[in-house]
Amino acid sequence: MSFTVAKFGGTSVADYPSMLRCAQIVQNNPSIRLVVVSACAGVTNRLAEIADKQGKQTESLRNEIYTIHASIQQKLKSSGALELSLSQLHDELESHCQKAIANWAAWRDELLSFGERCSSLLFSCVLNEQGLLSDTLDARQLLKTNSAFGRAQPDEVSTKSHCLEQKQKLDSGCVWVTQGFIGSDDKTQTTTLGRGGSDYSAALLAAGFNATDLQIWTDVAGIYTTDPRICSSARAIAEMSFSEAAELATFGAKILHPSSLAPAIKNSIRVFIGSSQNAAAGGTYISANPTTRPDVRAVALRRNQTLVTVHSLSMLHASGFLARLFEILARYNVSVDLVTTSEVSIALTLDEGGSIANGQALLPAAALEELEQFCRVEIETGLSLVAIIGNGIGRDAHISQLTFNTVNDYAVRLICQGASEHNLCFLVEDSEGENVIRTLHDRILS
Ligand code: ASP
Ligand code: MG
Repeated sequence: MSFTVAKFGGTSVADYPSMLRCAQIVQNNPSIRLVVVSACAGVTNRLAEIADKQGKQTESLRNEIYTIHASIQQKLKSSGALELSLSQLHDELESHCQKAIANWAAWRDELLSFGERCSSLLFSCVLNEQGLLSDTLDARQLLKTNSAFGRAQPDEVSTKSHCLEQKQKLDSGCVWVTQGFIGSDDKTQTTTLGRGGSDYSAALLAAGFNATDLQIWTDVAGIYTTDPRICSSARAIAEMSFSEAAELATFGAKILHPSSLAPAIKNSIRVFIGSSQNAAAGGTYISANPTTRPDVRAVALRRNQTLVTVHSLSMLHASGFLARLFEILARYNVSVDLVTTSEVSIALTLDEGGSIANGQALLPAAALEELEQFCRVEIETGLSLVAIIGNGIGRDAHISQLTFNTVNDYAVRLICQGASEHNLCFLVEDSEGENVIRTLHDRILS
């Protein structure tokens, strides 16, 4: 039997008309039994601002949030019970802001959770009003994490056992609405998975409940062959494999949180990405076995790359050099993206997502100092990474030929190919990135 988890992002539940469109999607698909929602658009940003100010003098921000919620609630005809629960949540938010802060990060996560807790309540009421049996489930009783507030790591095993405990509820014919982005640690303190984390939540919960399908409803009709803002002939991709999506997820395909797919991939859950504003427009299916495997599926651009090159003559015929280099980077939590080596040097790009998300500099000064003790280090910025995503790359001369013909006119700073048959990528100057993408797309994908 199919069991679908549907996730609606912040713009999909921004206001009452948007919520109604999402309700329609749920109504049209009886296999949707669990809905995961983001906070209404703009709410988490405001909560984050309140957190920065430690709750002090943030009345106007709080009022803006209440107005967003009230405008939805007012559209609901039978809003008596809802009014009560919503004002309870708002009261709780008020007193949370007055609280003495012992641990700011923990206090902040609790504060941020109000966005999703309010939107899930509102959306469940919209479903009720549309004639569906619906109730809310507290995600903190399902999604278990460690205590790294602000960027908590989920515990997939514990999450699964908590989900399975509640599984019976999901077989009751009711549509359950829960919160994306939030979870709790083993002391039941509220945690969050990091900004934009609700896709990840949805994938974790889909895996936890053994769902067959995961739908991510957002404001674009699926994954595109390239960024339509760069290239007007970009079009939505009907289907792709997990492996292609995994390569693409880290390449500026902004609609996917980089690691969000992993739990779905591991559990062979079919993923669909579509636009809640225009469900009829279709979207992209991601599965283990797509019906097509074209040479090139998409081209993508990632800007603002930092290239670090380390040179050392002692690397020649030496062993353990790479281990020493990566041990330092690991100790400073530096996330490395691409690596190429020559006889006496190593070039690597640093992943901004990974490092900046940890709230630190891309390459901390202390790490640089340690590296400089045994090699010469060069750092270049202002580069863009161009990626070609497809199938059989490296096995098929024709893709490399097309690619190299295209980049003929540009200075290519680094090329990476071979680790995956789904990806070929290279670095060019930031100022040339968009042109390269347009030329590649025109020649290969149009
Ligand atoms: N509401 C959270 C945010 O805005 C999580 C999400 O929407 O994915 O970051
Ligand atoms: Mg989002």
